[in-house]
Amino acid sequence: MAYDDQNIFARIIRGELPAIKVYEDDQVLAFMDIMPQAEGHTLVIPKTPAVTLLDLPAEAAAYSIQIVQKIAKAIEKALNAEGIVLMQLSGAAAGQTVPHVHFHLIPSSVHQLGRHAAEIGDQEKIKAIAERIRAAL
Ligand code: 5GP
Repeated sequence: MAYDDQNIFARIIRGELPAIKVYEDDQVLAFMDIMPQAEGHTLVIPKTPAVTLLDLPAEAAAYSIQIVQKIAKAIEKALNAEGIVLMQLSGAAAGQTVPHVHFHLIPSSVHQLGRHAAEIGDQEKIKAIAERIRAAL
């Protein structure tokens, strides 16, 4: 699938749409999911234009996973998370809804997931959680 540079996450990377950010460097951005499946649901996205993990150059994938681990540690510390689900959907057939590769970090249990991209969360509450995660980085 060709990369659409007007997808929501490409626009967030360019600063054209807002996001509640927890981490950013020149290669990766981490921000809160707008429809969280649990408190602290965070997305980590490489800035490299790629639709799925399969399209992402190996170097960008390797660096992204380092940042995924860094953010997961901050979520664990900030929210006293006992478990964190790392989810990555590649392809619409897998349930991917935004065509820019991303990693979900969801402080929850796999047994409690299932409400994927279902309901807009309380953005003020999400901002407060993001502040705690940022402070734990
Ligand atoms: P996917 O289905 O592609 O694996 O996950 C896309 C995720 O992006 C979903 O969890 C959904 O809630 C989230 N999402 C969709 N649109 C936006 C948005 O505009 N801002 C943010 N922060 N998250 C979004």
